[in-house]
Amino acid sequence: MSENGKNSSQKGSKVRVSAGKIKIKENIDIFKCPVCGDGMYVDEFKSIICMKNHCFDISRRGYVNLLLKPPKHKYGKELFKSRSVICQMGFFDPLLESIVRLIYDNISDDIDHVRILDAGCGEGYHLSQVIKKLQENQDTHFQGVGIDISKDAIQIASKNFKGIVWCVADIAKIPFMDKKFDIVLNILSPSNYSEFSRIIRSQGVLIKIVPNSGYLKELRDIFYRGTDKEIYSNEEVIEHFSKNFEVLDTKNVQYSVSLNREQLSHLIKMTPLSWGAAEEIIEKALDSNIDNITADFTVIVGRGKLSN
Ligand SMILES: [Zn+2]
Repeated sequence: MSENGKNSSQKGSKVRVSAGKIKIKENIDIFKCPVCGDGMYVDEFKSIICMKNHCFDISRRGYVNLLLKPPKHKYGKELFKSRSVICQMGFFDPLLESIVRLIYDNISDDIDHVRILDAGCGEGYHLSQVIKKLQENQDTHFQGVGIDISKDAIQIASKNFKGIVWCVADIAKIPFMDKKFDIVLNILSPSNYSEFSRIIRSQGVLIKIVPNSGYLKELRDIFYRGTDKEIYSNEEVIEHFSKNFEVLDTKNVQYSVSLNREQLSHLIKMTPLSWGAAEEIIEKALDSNIDNITADFTVIVGRGKLSN
């Protein structure tokens, strides 16, 4: 492509190119202009541009914002900071181990480059851990790509985790070309099955993680006691999945995590259970001396029905 020549002639310029920018350039073939659907190219590591000149700046940290308008709901930075603390304490690590094993099980031996999208990646911990673990004992190269509608989340991701392509984008209009991904992860996050079907290769898989009724039940007992949300069921979500994707495998992952009061306060801030809850209930949860929390998930692996 022509921009290769342009960049090589720029040697000696003082512009420091971040790892994120290099990753975007290496993976530029996946990008699709969110305005017109054209392919895109990198312009001097400053922006990505389509053939019709729709231009999106690459941030200094090396992520690109491909949203055409700001999202209706804005999750605060605090939420992602709390989520980051909970992730860093290893709360999700057993779940991530299962995801890694399922990825191994679902990639064929003959491919040496596997591209994984985390759709709704939040502040990036899950994807970066999965890629790190996959890379440990394989010759295969695993390239992670993370999208989230929250700019705050992507900013944290691009600061903390290098080697991954990070984009602010909407899962309802994924700014990537058809059939570019071997694996799409969708972890505790909304889905858009028609977009997932479009971007997954015909032999690729979608791995979706949904909470089970036991997930955070110690908190659910406090926040939702006596309401219709006291018992959570994921039946509808799983049914919706199977209408759109052929289910290849499902796994239950259940464990318990011990945590201190400070970690508990971050967990409370992070979970939608507490959003909109009265201050007294949040205080009550904090004072409850909960020192163990149940993690309980279903992991579903599926193949697109349309792609066969
Ligand atoms: Zn365009």
